[in-house]
Amino acid sequence: MSDAAGAARPAETDRDGKMGVDLFRIGGIQVAVDASWLVVFALVLWSLAAGYFPSQFPGRGWGDYIAVGLASTVLFFSSVLLHELSHAFVGNSLGEEVKRITLFIFGGMAHLSGEPRSAGAEFKIAAVGPATSIALGGLFLALEQLGGAIGVGDLWVAMLGYLGRINIALAVFNLLPGYPLDGGRLLRAYFWSRSGDLREATARAADWGAGIATGLMILGALQIFAGGLIGGLWLIFIAMFLRGAARAGHLSVVTERSLAGARVRDLMVENPITIAPGVALADAIQDTFLRHGFTGYPVVDDGKPVGVLSLSDVQRCPAEERGDKRVADFMRPLNDALVIGPNASAIDALHKMNENDNGRLLAIESGRLVGFLTRSGIARFTKLRVALEDAKAAR
Ligand SMILES: [Zn+2]
Repeated sequence: MSDAAGAARPAETDRDGKMGVDLFRIGGIQVAVDASWLVVFALVLWSLAAGYFPSQFPGRGWGDYIAVGLASTVLFFSSVLLHELSHAFVGNSLGEEVKRITLFIFGGMAHLSGEPRSAGAEFKIAAVGPATSIALGGLFLALEQLGGAIGVGDLWVAMLGYLGRINIALAVFNLLPGYPLDGGRLLRAYFWSRSGDLREATARAADWGAGIATGLMILGALQIFAGGLIGGLWLIFIAMFLRGAARAGHLSVVTERSLAGARVRDLMVENPITIAPGVALADAIQDTFLRHGFTGYPVVDDGKPVGVLSLSDVQRCPAEERGDKRVADFMRPLNDALVIGPNASAIDALHKMNENDNGRLLAIESGRLVGFLTRSGIARFTKLRVALEDAKAAR
């Protein structure tokens, strides 16, 4: 499963940058699932309970197949989660801030707030994931032997064997040397340690990622010609995802580079349009959202910033209640995660957004709102800088 730690984060998001539905917290890390993941869960469950186990052990009751299919699916996804958690825990122990893991269609994604600090840190964070999967694979294979020896039912022994093999397959796939797979991250750490240039190292590792994606597509196409339609399509989907993630990972490094030296002050909107907390939501929609066309606004009470109201906050209020409810009832109240100083560096601001999965910051100086910084504002700035750099290079 491809996990794109911190790489596939979109530079611009119109849904407040929040990814997935929150499930639970573990060791200070929020675990969330993307809607796509539910589809995969159902597909895996179906392929095991209706395909794999009935074909291996014909003649059993449906209840047995469903029970063993469900247990295998849950343990499989727990294994994927443990793989991601291992990246997150090692990342946190090395001073990265990983506060969120999202499980999505092709596995998981641990959100690093920025690029790792050194090639050594990158190496350790990347290596621990496949190592965890190999350890889990070994554990399940040992349990398979043990289960066979002590006479556990053959369906359950088969389940342990399946989990052992799939965890090892997970490790092998993730070790393919194409960024942003773990193997590609190891490769990037190697290039980085040799050249000292993260941007160049990322570009090279991402080229490998694109090459591996092309290889997987050809493999998928061959598989389809050989009659394996589902498996072939699956490979092609993974390859397409990998290609996109390689590009996004490259872009996120470019973003950080082009923000170098910039301050919040340079990127923020000065004197932003604001909303008062006492206004009815319906009026805020008419007079502010629809009139100015932005998807989020600072909430200011008598000159004092008190929170942020975004489109998704408004959407939480049922349409028929928007005439009675006030902005203050649905805004996100001011807290540290929403505030940045105008002289802070733009990169710190971006990290703060990524850490808290929040696309908007209030620039506050001496208790007064001086500006509003958005992820899309940062994206516009980097686009401009990259374009101007290219123009300079072209001359
Ligand atoms: Zn991984």
